Amino acid sequence: MDAASLDLRAPPASARLIDPFARAVSYLRVSVTDRCDFRCVYCMAEDMTFLPKADILSLEELDRLCSAFVRLGVRKLRMTGGEPLVRRGVMNLFRSLGRHLESGALDELTVTTNGSQLPRYAAELAACGVRRINVSLDTLDPAKFKAITRWGDLAKVEDGLMAAKAAGLAVKINAVALKGVNEDEFDRLIEWSGRHGFDLVFIEVMPLGDIEPSRLDQYLPLSLVRTRIERNWTLQETDYRTGGPARYFTVAETGRRLGFITPLTHNFCESCNRVRLTCTGTLYMCLGQEDAADLRAPLRASADDALLDEAIRAAIARKPKGHDFVIDRRHRGPAVSRHMSTTGG
Ligand code: SAM
Ligand code: SF4
Repeated sequence: MDAASLDLRAPPASARLIDPFARAVSYLRVSVTDRCDFRCVYCMAEDMTFLPKADILSLEELDRLCSAFVRLGVRKLRMTGGEPLVRRGVMNLFRSLGRHLESGALDELTVTTNGSQLPRYAAELAACGVRRINVSLDTLDPAKFKAITRWGDLAKVEDGLMAAKAAGLAVKINAVALKGVNEDEFDRLIEWSGRHGFDLVFIEVMPLGDIEPSRLDQYLPLSLVRTRIERNWTLQETDYRTGGPARYFTVAETGRRLGFITPLTHNFCESCNRVRLTCTGTLYMCLGQEDAADLRAPLRASADDALLDEAIRAAIARKPKGHDFVIDRRHRGPAVSRHMSTTGG
């Protein structure tokens, strides 16, 4: 008997979600709201129109959907958005999903946040079983931070990060590399992250949603970023993986991990283990493709989960092999029309 068949917590192999390319779907990212208290220039227009409240799933419905995925073999849940921590009552969802950690059905419950609400929630997140969080921070300069986020306050995010540290949460900083904006700060970000014991991941700007200014002006290939970083830091190869698209190194001088997410210059789709759910119950099988499945209708059609399970399986059977992001002079528009805040980063 192998280890999997001895593990009573795992669903039987026939019940697990396997896509047409034999990839097991074990990771669900959930955008719990499309709203946000920031308006980052690469993510949202300043005058965003948000979804009508009536279209948005209740926290109880989100719990039921997440729990169905857990029953079908998902081992990792990430709450994202918009800004997940601005949704009213969101801690009830974290608290309730924490039961899957306690039962052993779930390995990890985590969140990607802009950090603004962490002074209030960091300790409670830890109490719900959250162990690691991703915090998005592109600059340590207050004026630049304001320029990038439009509405954000760097001091509040810094307070949030210190609250996370105090609560014992492991923090990974996500920084989007932006040409002409934060490219003079990479060394500072590495030093600062190292000093605070945070891992750091640089992300290439992706062509999602139609926003100004042109993405060609913001796009900075990470191959270039890495070359520059290596002038001042020693990057040691590591085989550390989180099941995500980041490629990780250890910075010898700080001992912390440094990752690069390069959706445009490196294709990571072959090992993709994830799907994304929006706050309206739409499931995207690939971040870079338009195809989606509506899970709200089967969810609301009956209190029984049979229809829902069937809809989830049918969606996974359509998961595409990969995406086709391109940014160059011939492709200035978005690869897909929805913003990152809709699908969740
Ligand atoms: N509000 C939360 C936050 O900022 O962390 C969670 C949602 S946000 C959409 C998730 C991540 O997507 C952030 O790290 C953000 O920097 C990144 N992001 C947003 N738009 C992007 C784009 N067009 N290209 C690359 N990354 C993007
Ligand atoms: Fe809000 Fe996050 Fe998008 Fe910035 S990146 S506007 S914080 S959702």
